[in-house]
Amino acid sequence: MQDSPSIADPLRDANVRATSYFVLQAQHDCTRCAQRTTVFALALPAGHESTEADIELDDEDSPGLAPGDFHDWLFSESTWQKIDSPALLSQLGLLPASVAQCLQTLAPALRLNPEQGGQWTNFCEHCGSAVWEGALYATPGQPFCPKDDAADAQITIHSVDTPVDTPFHAYARMIWTDGYRNKWPLLRRLGWQDADAP
Ligand SMILES: [Zn+2]
Repeated sequence: MQDSPSIADPLRDANVRATSYFVLQAQHDCTRCAQRTTVFALALPAGHESTEADIELDDEDSPGLAPGDFHDWLFSESTWQKIDSPALLSQLGLLPASVAQCLQTLAPALRLNPEQGGQWTNFCEHCGSAVWEGALYATPGQPFCPKDDAADAQITIHSVDTPVDTPFHAYARMIWTDGYRNKWPLLRRLGWQDADAP
């Protein structure tokens, strides 16, 4: 990779990192062959770090940021913040080798898809077609967006610790945290306890 600077560097371009991660496993009916196939997703526990956290620019209780602060934040090397919510990751474009190796045995259907710019994609185990991400994460009732506890229980969760010297780090275009209310049932299973819970 060193002779090709255009290829993303997992360490430099990562926007999430953690010392452990979850591999989620669920069932999906393939839209191509109509057979039931196993699909996988990655998630991070509460306490993971992200560079994508919202910055509060005009909170009424704060004195506000000086004009230069936002510029400094925007162009800083990277701004890692600890996140209190677990996070479901999707549209993964970048994974370190240690995670890729783990997925080969734990989640063989989730592979790099060269036709989609190297995005990590699930493939049907019967007909081999790529599973569209829009069918997996976004809408309640989909495999990784369970709408109730019963649907939630259909998801198998594997927890993987990373070696201390090589934490999980990745670039994910979508990071589903507790800001997405329809992810609360899943996030609770990943250890999250929301403040509003009775
Ligand atoms: Zn299929």
